Order: sequence, then C-alpha cells, then structure tokens
Amino acid sequence: MRALIKESKQRGLTMTELPEPICGPRDVKIKIQKTAICGTDLHIYKSDPWPLSAMPLPLNIGHEYIGHIVEVGAEVTQFKVGDRVSGEGHIVCGWCRNCRAGHEHLCLDTKSVGVTREGAFADFLVIPARNAYLVPAEISDDVAALLDPLGNAIHTALANDLIAEDILITGAGPIGIMAAVIAKFVGARHVVITDINEKRLKMAEQVGVTRAINPTKTKLNDVMTELGMCEGFDVGLEMSGNGNAINDMVSVMNNGGKMALLGIAADQVNLDWNNVVLKSLTLKGIYGRRMFDTWYKMINLLKQGMDVTPVISGVYPAAEFEVAFETMLKGDCGKLILEWS
Ligand code: NAD
Ligand code: ZN
Repeated sequence: MRALIKESKQRGLTMTELPEPICGPRDVKIKIQKTAICGTDLHIYKSDPWPLSAMPLPLNIGHEYIGHIVEVGAEVTQFKVGDRVSGEGHIVCGWCRNCRAGHEHLCLDTKSVGVTREGAFADFLVIPARNAYLVPAEISDDVAALLDPLGNAIHTALANDLIAEDILITGAGPIGIMAAVIAKFVGARHVVITDINEKRLKMAEQVGVTRAINPTKTKLNDVMTELGMCEGFDVGLEMSGNGNAINDMVSVMNNGGKMALLGIAADQVNLDWNNVVLKSLTLKGIYGRRMFDTWYKMINLLKQGMDVTPVISGVYPAAEFEVAFETMLKGDCGKLILEWS
C-alpha cells in the first residue's frame, strides 16, 4: 500500500510502499479515503525536536482521517465491513488508575496514531475497534476528516459553561476558528478572537465572530469598551501556544474567569503569575479529546447544523502531499486535506 512516512531526521516526508497492516482479533482495518494535515504533522515534516524525539523512525504518520472498514477482527461485534469511521488517535493502556476510573483521556501510557505508532496517511490503517467511531452519512468526508482536531476544539470549548458568556479565543488557527464556531453555536454572547496573521483573522470573520483582532494593532481593552464589556472575559480558550497571547488573555479576564489551555508552547512561557492569583483565575490544561463523550457531542452538534467547513482551505491528491505541506507551513490557510481514494 501507499504510505507517507517519516524516514529519518531530515526535513520532509517520503511516499513509499509498505505491506498492508494486519488486523488483529480486536482490531478493525480501515481503507482510508481522506486525511487532514495537523500542526503535529507539520512539526514532523520540519523535523522539530518535538514530536520527533518521541517517534520510532521510520514511521507512517497522520492521525486525522475518514475511511471505510474493510476487515473486522474475529472478536469484534460492534462494527461490520463497509462501516464509515474515523477514530480516536489515543490508544490507551486500559489499566492505569485514570483508565480504570473512566478518565481515558488522562491515561499515563497512551500511544498516538501517527506519532508513536503506525498512522493514517496510507491506504490502510489498523486500530483497536474500540478506537473507531461511526460517522453518520450526513457528515461530509471533508468534515469527517477533521473530527480529531474538531474534538480538541470541542473538548476545550465545552470545558466551561459558555451560554451567554463573553469568550476570548487567542489564536485563529483551524482549531481556534472551530472553537469560535462552537462557542457561537452553543450560545455564547461575544466571541472575540485574536491572531497576528491577517489572513487567519479574515477566516475567523467568515464564521461570524464578534471581533477578530490583531493584538499588535488593537488593544483588547478598547474592544471591550466598544462592546460595552466593563468587567472582563468570562471564559478564555487559549489556542496559540504563544506566551504573549496567554498573558494578553490573563490581563483581560474577569475575576474568577476560567481559562482552558490547548495551545502547546514552543518555549517556556513567563506567566503573569500574580494576575492569575489576584484575579482568582482557573487554568485548565486540555489534552486530546474525552473518550468518547467529546465524539458523541461533536457528531451531534454537526448533525444539528454546526458548520466548520469555512476552516477547510483545499483538497490535494495524496501524491501532492509536498505542495500541501509547504502551503500549510506558510500559515496563511486553514485545513488542507489529502485524498487517498
Ligand atoms: P496553528 O499553529 O495553526 O494556530 C495557532 C495560531 O496562533 C496561528 O494562527 C498563529 O498566528 C497564532 N498566534 C501566534 N502568536 C499569537 C499571539 N501573540 N496572539 C494571538 N495569536 C497568535 O494551530 P492549530 O492547529 O489551530 O492548533 C492550535 C494549538 O493547539 C497549537 O498550539 C497546537 O499545537 C495545539 N494543539 C494541542 C492539542 C492538545 O491535545 N493539547 C491538540 C491539537 C493541537
Ligand atoms: Zn491508561
């Protein structure tokens, strides 16, 4: 089968032929139709220390996908050949304290599809059946390929009550913009999003945010005044991993505000510690998705008409992966999709 692999520590990826993965008794084998490129894949492409240090090389990468089941393991009763599925990319141990308490997203020994084990940028992927998730027909292939990052956005956004609240999102990357869509859809009042990239701010405007602003040009305090917000933001969704953005957020949170942090910082962050303390803020780190409540919620929000298609900027044949990766690395677009069928 075709597979996109990270062969060595050199920049880039290689399209190669690999034997098809073998479907074990508790697994499903999926024929991949479409995959989406994640920020993690871009780090792998560039050979950044993280996540390369965690990867066994060579490795078939990729973890955002939609496909059809072509084989089910002998012990699998929940799926059948032909089922259209995506899947949870964290394969948990099932035995640590968190797993056994039903908090699998906090597993101490999780394996990641396309980072620490074989990935989805290939014709076929084998995963434990428990990780596969049935996708209803009304969700398009392109949107279904985004369920993994949409799940990150849902997990972060729904970590706090958003109804009628004022929300600040820092970082208008694909996940930040999807978080804005969620916040609007579930009934937030003002949704303000920041980015330093004007093209991404334009994309954010297309999904109907209250304001999309560049914090190097416009002060958040001025935006608050314009919107008649005299106390501060109630909920912050940190989606940039940038230290300035995190401290910008801390500076405009209301006392008792709640911040959910998804962005992964490239460097150490100098947090405005005293403001966190004096404002009695609650900071919550978010990793991955809740298994499988996030999946349930996201499928049903999409079925009710939540529209994340504005974050999709293009579809490329898998063979043109290099163009897609280089385009995404420029940072001026939303999600790019690779087509494998
Ligand atoms: P992305 O890199 O495409 O988007 C981040 C955005 O932040 C960019 O548009 C960038 O211009 C913007 N930014 C940089 N400096 C800023 C500043 N000072 N103020 C405001 N915005 C600023 O990333 P993405 O794919 O949308 O993902 C969002 C973040 O979530 C990334 O940091 C990613 O690594 C992280 N992530 C975490 C998890 C997890 O499980 N915790 C999962 C997926 C992604
Ligand atoms: Zn575990």
